[in-house]
Amino acid sequence: MEFKSMNLKDTNPSTPEGDMENVKCLIVGSGPAGYTAAIYAARANLNPVLIEGLQPGGQLTTTTEVDNFPGYADGVTGPVMMADLKKQAERFGTDCRWGLVTEVDFSTYPHKVIVDGKKIIMAETVILATGATAKYLGFPTEEKYMGSGVSACATCDGFFYRGLDVAVVGGGDTAAEEATYLAGLCKKVYLIVRKDYLRASKAMQDRVARTENIEVLYEHNTKELYGDGVVQGAKLIKRMGEADETEVDIKIDGYFVAIGHTPNSKIFSKYLKTDEQGYVLTEPDSTKTNVPGVFAAGDLKDPHYRQAITSAGSGCMAAMDAERFLSERE
Ligand code: NDP
Repeated sequence: MEFKSMNLKDTNPSTPEGDMENVKCLIVGSGPAGYTAAIYAARANLNPVLIEGLQPGGQLTTTTEVDNFPGYADGVTGPVMMADLKKQAERFGTDCRWGLVTEVDFSTYPHKVIVDGKKIIMAETVILATGATAKYLGFPTEEKYMGSGVSACATCDGFFYRGLDVAVVGGGDTAAEEATYLAGLCKKVYLIVRKDYLRASKAMQDRVARTENIEVLYEHNTKELYGDGVVQGAKLIKRMGEADETEVDIKIDGYFVAIGHTPNSKIFSKYLKTDEQGYVLTEPDSTKTNVPGVFAAGDLKDPHYRQAITSAGSGCMAAMDAERFLSERE
């Protein structure tokens, strides 16, 4: 991939005036990538300001136990882990602020970022860590059982369903991967696919086919979930809208939605190169985007791993890249 940097007009940062402020390092997003970037940036004396966004703490605040983040030997809940990360970032002087970035202008330098439609921040470096949002199907009982049997992350929550029966919805690589991961933990995994074929890569399809405790339910759609407080089963429609349409009932304890993620990059897409799904592109082995001084970390740029620990790792890289960028300009 050819990766050309954008040419920026150099403009002098103005002194803070009214609702305008100059910062060395602005971090947008408060998941593991954002807070880790903040820890590193603060320790490098970049005086980071972190804008938390609509969901302070990010996707992890919607999960329960996190057992796979190194260092928490007894596990931790998502919200507690995020509170710990925030505390650690603040310990080194990060200025964490509630707010939502509503507009950016990356065509001038320093970069202009508008928070809540009014506050202007002129930033010498910007670290974007706005994450991705899991897509859900959107039917009422899916929302009702969120966190009580409904999950969008097998790696995060699969462990709680050891020895039980679960379903995964989707026919892409994520669904195939989640189904095979869960098959290693669960008694039985139903893979609910709306078409009569899988969209997943051939290799993933072969893995699904080789896994004995996965049953693929082609041409099935979910009508509703049911259960007493937690998911106990799902009513599916087979061949919806066809003459031979039938209702199918499966008994399950977990319902994993794996129909894709949407990277939260829309607001930056005028300036940043993204792939066709909207994931921000960065230089290989780096967090540099095509705009000098703008770095991307975490799920915003990662369609593959999407783990708290990998996000934290790229947050660290982004802060180091920002620090190097600033020292090279001096
Ligand atoms: P995809 O967009 O590839 O697949 C989404 C799946 O969900 C499709 O099968 C789609 O069905 C189904 N779906 C979408 N909406 C609905 C709905 N309303 N009801 C039922 N089913 C629905 O997303 P993925 O997250 O799987 O993959 C995203 C990208 O990441 C891909 O490029 C993939 O290759 C990559 N990836 C790679 C991995 C790897 O290399 N190890 C692992 C995971 C992802 P339909 O087919 O009918 O449209």
